[in-house]
Amino acid sequence: MKIAFATNNKNKLAEIKEILGENFEVLSLNDINCHVDIPETGTTMEENARIKAEYIYTHYGISVFADDTGLEVEALNGAPGVYSARYAGGEGHDSEANMRKLLHELEGKENRKARFRTVIAYINADAQQGAVRPEAMLFEGICPGEIINEKRGETGFGYDPIFQPAGYDKTFAELGHEIKNRISHRALAVKKFADYLKTNP
Ligand code: IMP
Repeated sequence: MKIAFATNNKNKLAEIKEILGENFEVLSLNDINCHVDIPETGTTMEENARIKAEYIYTHYGISVFADDTGLEVEALNGAPGVYSARYAGGEGHDSEANMRKLLHELEGKENRKARFRTVIAYINADAQQGAVRPEAMLFEGICPGEIINEKRGETGFGYDPIFQPAGYDKTFAELGHEIKNRISHRALAVKKFADYLKTNP
C-alpha cells in the first residue's frame, strides 16, 4: 500500500518505515514532488496535522498522514504547545533560544510538570468517496515528564536537553535515540497509527 507522509524529515521517515514494515510504501513530500512549505496556521496540533494531511490529499489525491508535536508545560497553561517550534519568535526552530525562554519562564516555579504530545492525522483516499471535506482520523501519543533546571545531554533535538521523561533520571538528550524512540510521544502515536493500518489496510 502506498501512503504519503507529509514530511521530509529523514529521522521521522526512517522511524515510520521501520515500524510499518514492508507492506507499506511510505512516500515523503520530495517523493511526490511536493516542494511547498505547507503553512501551519492552526491553533491546535490537531488542526495543524489535519491541515497538512488535507493539503496533500486535496492536491495529490493519495492516502496521507501528517504529524504535529508540541511540548505542553503545566505551569504555563500548556504553552508552548502548538507554538513549540517558534516559542522564542523569529522563523522558529531555534532550539537554544526556545529552551532559554522556557527556562526563564519557569524560573522560581515549583511545578515543572510537562508532556510532549504528538498528533497524527490520517486521510484514507479510498474511504473518501467524493466527500467535500476529507475526513481525517487522529492518533495521539503522550510522553509525560518534567522540565529540569539546566540543559543536560547531547543527542536528539528541540527541547530534549531539558526534558526528563517520567520514570527516568536522565533527559531525552542523555537517554539516546534507542530509548527515546521506544518511549517517545511520536513513537507512541506512530505505533497506534501503525496498529490501525495493519488491521485496516
Ligand atoms: P514538529 O511538529 O515535529 O515539527 O515539532 C514542533 C517542535 O516541537 C519542534 O521544532 C521542536 O522544538 C519540538 N519537538 C518536537 N518533537 C520533539 C522531541 O522529540 N524532542 C524535543 N523537541 C521536540
